[in-house]
Amino acid sequence: MRFDVVSIFPEVFGPVFSVGVVGRAIAGGRIALAAHDLRDHAPGRHRQVDDEPFGGGPGMVLKPEPIFAAVEAIRPLNPGPVVLLEPWGERLTQRLAQDLARQPGLIIVCGRYEGIDDRVRQALAAREISIGDYVLSGGEIPAMVLIDAVARLVPGVVGDEASLAQDAFGEGGGGYPQFTRPAEWRGLRVPEVLLSGDHGAIARWRLEHARGGVADSQLMTRIGATNGTRP
Ligand code: SAM
Repeated sequence: MRFDVVSIFPEVFGPVFSVGVVGRAIAGGRIALAAHDLRDHAPGRHRQVDDEPFGGGPGMVLKPEPIFAAVEAIRPLNPGPVVLLEPWGERLTQRLAQDLARQPGLIIVCGRYEGIDDRVRQALAAREISIGDYVLSGGEIPAMVLIDAVARLVPGVVGDEASLAQDAFGEGGGGYPQFTRPAEWRGLRVPEVLLSGDHGAIARWRLEHARGGVADSQLMTRIGATNGTRP
């Protein structure tokens, strides 16, 4: 899968995506990530990407021409939808990340200042996505959140795919408490069941303690299945 990001601060993406599972996936060629400087697509000596809002008001707005030029330059490399990060957009959820991970790529446009000229939304964007009901100063951090959430769902990015199923909101009912050695630390003991070696009991305990996204009916079915009974 290929991610192309358009930003006035493309340099911030390199450090974040040189580490961890996504960094390894990029180094190994499973994921391609290119951050493009919006100013490279702005005409003139001053490479101006913003201007005052029509109708007045504070701040500046990102001009449409450089964004159209950037997306048109990227398009031959990336057939995926154009996504705008906007605070009022569709909320990013695990379900949305799963849908987007089936795309061949994403072209992500990061806003700044007072936002993006609305003609970009009208003519280029397939969707607007928000990472939550608060306002950040730019779309770069939301773009990183989106890329990380989607990239780890691309097959082969996370080495052991079982770990995706056991994530919070994953299929396996994840988000259960995790422990490692030592078995006791400052009077806090690891639950006995996890030390028991009884895999059925461990699976039931984990389902009962899943904190992320397993519907009650699904949970009861799975507990029944690990008990060898039907609820
Ligand atoms: N004028 C906008 C408003 O009325 O909310 C705020 C613009 S904000 C200062 C600048 C840019 O940050 C936005 O265009 C968007 O790209 C990004 N941004 C801010 N908060 C965001 C959020 N919660 N989710 C996604 N993007 C966000």
